Amino acid sequence: MSTVDGAMISSLTSAKKMQGYKVTDNKRSRKFGIAANSLKMLTERAGTKFNIKDCSLYLAKDGMKVTDEAYFATIEPQTLFVAVGPGEKDVMTEYDITMKNIRDNIGKGNLNHDYILQTLLEEYPERFSKAIAKYQKTYFQDRSKLDFSLRSEHEEWFRGTEKTCKTKEEAMGKRAQDRIRGYYYKTKEEIIKSDLYETNEKARQMFHRILDIFRYLLIGCNYFSMMFDRKCKRKHPSLQDQTDASALPSKRMRQMIKEYATRTEMFEDWSVSLCNDSGEFFCQGLYSNTGGCDKGHSINPYICRENLLVFQVWNLDHQIELARTIVPSLIENVRSLLENPNQKCPLHGKKVKDVNIIEYFLELFSVKNLKLVYIVCHDKTQRKNSSNGRLVCDKCSEYNLIKDFTDFTESIDC
Ligand SMILES: [Zn+2]
Ligand SMILES: [Zn+2]
Ligand SMILES: [Zn+2]
Repeated sequence: MSTVDGAMISSLTSAKKMQGYKVTDNKRSRKFGIAANSLKMLTERAGTKFNIKDCSLYLAKDGMKVTDEAYFATIEPQTLFVAVGPGEKDVMTEYDITMKNIRDNIGKGNLNHDYILQTLLEEYPERFSKAIAKYQKTYFQDRSKLDFSLRSEHEEWFRGTEKTCKTKEEAMGKRAQDRIRGYYYKTKEEIIKSDLYETNEKARQMFHRILDIFRYLLIGCNYFSMMFDRKCKRKHPSLQDQTDASALPSKRMRQMIKEYATRTEMFEDWSVSLCNDSGEFFCQGLYSNTGGCDKGHSINPYICRENLLVFQVWNLDHQIELARTIVPSLIENVRSLLENPNQKCPLHGKKVKDVNIIEYFLELFSVKNLKLVYIVCHDKTQRKNSSNGRLVCDKCSEYNLIKDFTDFTESIDC
């Protein structure tokens, strides 16, 4: 009977296409790409590769044993399997492996916690927020070292953070910078994969110019490191019982940028700290909830190492979304400028000259468009808002701000 089954399976599957899969062993010592057109073939080939007799395959994602050809046929190519022999009982899932890595490496200073936590969170959001909710209920917070700032005063807090950071404020500032820098690379990636970038040499040059200006502006505002720095005296308006960052008058902002004396003063209104003087951050609430957070979420990462780790699940939420809205708008405006260079600025009736780089910059990187929210208040559904970026003429103040700024940066380049 079994030989008949086997023959039937191979005759059924012989018509199927060969697909690539990934297979690893339970210790994750090696990983192979293996082509197969059936579960039977993949199991045999994995057994040979890893030298396992009576090999079984499990999904690395959740540790489920795969025994059914029909189910196997629904599994995406490039899925990772774990090849396990009959003696091995506990199959390590990807989650287990990541947790083990964290446990093994935490405190040794040789692991990028931020990266791992971020990865973990993105892949297992429900699991993580449950664990954290439980932790926050049960964990007694010892606030006795809250006000300490130096590494020597609170060494435990600094475990795993860069050796160069001497104070908590510096370490927190660096975390803010890492997030903002991440948005820069995300923006760059989104632009580079666009059709316009790929197919149009002029557009490519414009995008590189815009990305360069973004980078200089980021240097100018120190990648908004002050966002997480409790010693920064300028506080976000939400800390003075004002919750709507976007309600700040942009005219005043423009006025202030115009009068810039040094580069760092360019974004004074947006160069604010999101925490109070003791280091307490308050959730700014769901995107859909204009009144802020109704659950009273707050956290002080300066208190202890655990809070610092939990702070990783506090997200900066782009109110106008980066990849779905801001970057596509930037790309469309570059396209429009190149295809129709004679169009007029709706405000001044003069020929347009550039895209509104300042507006895009603020939407991508500043608290003008970023809300700090606890993960359960991070709304991931699609939004209906749109970018305020547009084309500008040389009468537009935004155009001149960037022109003055680039003249300035070019003068220091030389
Ligand atoms: Zn909240
Ligand atoms: Zn978001
Ligand atoms: Zn204009």
